[in-house]
Amino acid sequence: MSTTETQVRPGLQIETRLFIGGEFVEAAQGGTIPVTNPHDNSILAEVSEATAADIDRAVAAAREAFPAWKKMSASDRGRLLLKLADAIEADAEYLAQLESLDTGHPIRDVRNLDIPRTAACFRYFGGIADKVEGTVVPVDPGFLNYVLREPLGVVGQIVPWNFPLMFTSWKMGPALAAGNTVVLKPAEITPLSALRVAKLMSDVGFPKGVVNIVPGYGHVAGQHLAEHRQVAKIAFTGSTAVGRKIVQASATNLKRVQLELGGKGANIVFEDAPLEAAVMGSAFAIFHNQGQACIAGSRLILHEKIADQFLDKFVALAKSVKIGNPLDPTTEMGPLTSAGHRDRVLAYVEVAKEQGGRILTGGTAPSNPDLAKGCYVEPTIVEAEPEHRVCQEEVFGPFVTVTRFKDDADAMRIANSTSYGLGGGLWTTNLKRAHMFAREIRSGMIWINSYKRVHPGSPFGGVGESGYGREMGFFAMHEYTEAHSVWVNYDAQIPPFYKR
Ligand code: NAD
Repeated sequence: MSTTETQVRPGLQIETRLFIGGEFVEAAQGGTIPVTNPHDNSILAEVSEATAADIDRAVAAAREAFPAWKKMSASDRGRLLLKLADAIEADAEYLAQLESLDTGHPIRDVRNLDIPRTAACFRYFGGIADKVEGTVVPVDPGFLNYVLREPLGVVGQIVPWNFPLMFTSWKMGPALAAGNTVVLKPAEITPLSALRVAKLMSDVGFPKGVVNIVPGYGHVAGQHLAEHRQVAKIAFTGSTAVGRKIVQASATNLKRVQLELGGKGANIVFEDAPLEAAVMGSAFAIFHNQGQACIAGSRLILHEKIADQFLDKFVALAKSVKIGNPLDPTTEMGPLTSAGHRDRVLAYVEVAKEQGGRILTGGTAPSNPDLAKGCYVEPTIVEAEPEHRVCQEEVFGPFVTVTRFKDDADAMRIANSTSYGLGGGLWTTNLKRAHMFAREIRSGMIWINSYKRVHPGSPFGGVGESGYGREMGFFAMHEYTEAHSVWVNYDAQIPPFYKR
């Protein structure tokens, strides 16, 4: 084993160096970031810490790689992404263990959701690469005007810790398919799977410098990348607070910015809802990945007629969720991803109580002594009023508020009462009402009798303080290209207003 690899489980070695210009390299200043296992807070690895000099190196490598990558035929770029999707599937078990150890995701979910979704997303963008067409605009007689979609150049991508593997595909898939080169900064606490993807990219033949992966702290490496004058765009997923800093940093060269920020998903259960499905779907909406999802259904809004009946079932379901070591395939909920975040989530229990919120279940760490060293929090359900802080602020944990409503107008008012607008759910058998609400709720995505469905072809993103821009599908291809308008005077005639 080399000094740059750490072995955490028999046979599982971890790459800890930065990936720049097609090579794994040490950080310029030699600093490292401790990466912990949230199950017991043991150190998994010490990962090289990128600082400004490393970001500069990575941007330079991406700039050098850009002209050839842009010129490569789109279908060849696509073919590399397809090969990467295959490589991810072939590496699925390694990736699943690594991601589960680093993030605390139950391995069951990583195997069944994160890995297939990551492969599917890279595959989708592999397929779409050569299908982005320009347009011809019907302009004045004698002129042809056609519009090309051109890549932007070097794209900086900054991602959070809640789905680090999946976000490599959401971010890099469209950027690379469109012909950009990439510098991706993973979250400092979960950089391991992105470094593994870098290795797989190198194995399948991505040219040097097309992708560079630089784990580092946000206020150092992230900030430098966001300010970098040779970066054409920052695609950011993370908190609204940091999103604001990204916008400010982008002013250096007026680079493009795409923001996928926080959320406070309204999940409305009407009196005519299919109740069993609504209970199960609402539990998935908030407890999957320990509630650490921007689109989590974190505000349950229940019609007063069915609220008690719904809550009997929902609270019982929450109490029965199997919490445990994420590597145990029967575990349904693992730890939160860091101790600091666990403390932040538990602090919201006190915030709820101070404002008169009623804890229906949870609100503490589990009593199981086997989990005492880890970052665990019980599924927590709190009855609260729409104006309470816990109904307004993103908690980002297994923490759901419950509010009752009287009629449709009341439900709409509550649903639209936060500054966020990312995802939301509606449980009803009334088609007219479902479509009316789907349209009127201020939200980038709405699920009817379902929650948290995503697909690489369907636009993903928010409104309001949840950000702007869309990931996935042709929407994403437009985000990573710009319109390039070409005018041809095909008769070579001199227009009257040029004549002297
Ligand atoms: P965060 O904003 O603290 O960090 C996100 C990333 O930004 C990390 O890589 C971090 O290192 C970096 N960063 C921090 N400060 C920076 C700075 N000054 N300049 C540049 N980069 C900086 O968010 P987090 O706590 O890692 O993630 C949780 C948040 O992400 C939640 O708010 C969640 O809703 C949001 N999120 C949004 C989506 C979406 O698609 N809308 C998806 C997942 C998570």
